[in-house]
Amino acid sequence: MLRLDLRKVAEFVRRADTEELLDRVTVYRAGMEPVALDLMEGELDRRGVTREEIAAWAAVRWENAIRLADGTALRCGFCDRPAVARVRRWHRVFGLVPVFPRSVACCATHLDG
Ligand SMILES: [Zn+2]
Repeated sequence: MLRLDLRKVAEFVRRADTEELLDRVTVYRAGMEPVALDLMEGELDRRGVTREEIAAWAAVRWENAIRLADGTALRCGFCDRPAVARVRRWHRVFGLVPVFPRSVACCATHLDG
């Protein structure tokens, strides 16, 4: 059983962007500890985000997300947002020579990058 450092979790929750919290209580929910979910939902409530808004966020995110077997969404390879596609990218050794194409998960933001 994973032991959580509740102080660290609380600290993260206070500083997190609302978008990050919304992703964690929706598409990443299945991978979250109940006590962490409580903290995040409490923080969202404090920021004035309603249950309806959370449900709407979940619907939009799940529409494009890639669902994993554990019930969570596949994460972008570059940030914590849910990936919307897997793309082939040339893997470069030391940033120089393209060696082989690699499949990378990308969120909507990083898809063009
Ligand atoms: Zn991303």
